Amino acid sequence: MIFRGDEESTDPAEPSGSRFEAPSVSVYLHIPFCDEKCDYCDFYSIPLGHESPKDKDLIINRYITAVLKETERRLEKTPRAATVYIGGGSPSGLGAAGIKRLLRGLGSLMPPAGEVTVEANPETADDAFLDACGAGGVTRLSLGVQSFDRRALEALGRRGGGGDLLRRTAAAAELFGPGLSLDIMSGIPGQTETALRRDIDRALSYTPGHISFYALTVEPGTPLARRVARGLSLPSADAADRLWLAGRRALIRGGYEHYEVSNFALPGRRSVHNIRYWRMENWIGVGAGASGTCIGGDGRGRRISYEPDAGNFISGPLEVTEDLDRPTVLRETLLMGYRYIEGPDPALFQKRFGRTIEEAIPRTLAKWGNKEKRLRFLNSFLLDSFMELDQ
Ligand code: SF4
Repeated sequence: MIFRGDEESTDPAEPSGSRFEAPSVSVYLHIPFCDEKCDYCDFYSIPLGHESPKDKDLIINRYITAVLKETERRLEKTPRAATVYIGGGSPSGLGAAGIKRLLRGLGSLMPPAGEVTVEANPETADDAFLDACGAGGVTRLSLGVQSFDRRALEALGRRGGGGDLLRRTAAAAELFGPGLSLDIMSGIPGQTETALRRDIDRALSYTPGHISFYALTVEPGTPLARRVARGLSLPSADAADRLWLAGRRALIRGGYEHYEVSNFALPGRRSVHNIRYWRMENWIGVGAGASGTCIGGDGRGRRISYEPDAGNFISGPLEVTEDLDRPTVLRETLLMGYRYIEGPDPALFQKRFGRTIEEAIPRTLAKWGNKEKRLRFLNSFLLDSFMELDQ
């Protein structure tokens, strides 16, 4: 298979990894380890908090070795990436030595990417870890704060809070400046509007360039879902909406642009890597439970994933390949694209599907759209709705 960034020719029938040339590819690396499992989490992650330091180091080192080897194989012909995102799980659980080794290994595989993001949990993102990220070429640090309120964290079954959380957020802000992104959550059991406003004010006091602000969802099968079934009270749907809208207003007043469903940024600080997902640009995902999608110039695509099993990944990663036909890729392009304020990339759309967005969905655009205002119809609808609710 040959992917060329400009032509994007591909034959999804060919096996992956044989030839791969895509100057515009991005790389996602999944680190499926956390110290402890949070009650609301349904991501694939393995708690390592109870392992002995020796066993933990062994697992982490083996996993890093496997990730680097597989990344090298996947980037066989194009050892470069537009953006890199190391997510999890909690990459900060790798510790300073682990992230150093991973970043150094990546550096030996390809030249530095334009944007390199690492996710971190304040619980494990100590000074040594943050320094190792800074020295290793990380340009964005995404810190999963969720809330600065200890009671809210307890309600989420999440460790941390208090002085360490504040100290580590301040240290990350000092090191990464506007490259800092904070995750803040609304709809937490017991959370009042005042408490949420305090969280947002506190977050804004660090002047992060980016804030992911999203509402808690109770995923079936999680400990949180069981606690709710046993009587834990959540905000009603209306109260949760009011909370989220109040948070959104506070962020906008603070100068943050609402540029994607759950994402806000200061000017020039949008997440380039995530925009590439929303615009369905090519990316590869490597790691247990990771997934990536590459689309050819003919509008057909290939999604390659790895089963969520770190042990199997260490012993020999097995790809799960899904070929995507043009109608599937077209639908995903619209679905993902209209999460983003600018909508899908019109030039990429035309190149892949041989017609403009206006030609593909004229009736919908006529119903919803204002063709002069770029292709942001669904978002316009959502934004207008939010504004109307705000009045
Ligand atoms: S730190 Fe993140 S990935 Fe890990 S258990 Fe908590 S929510 Fe899940």
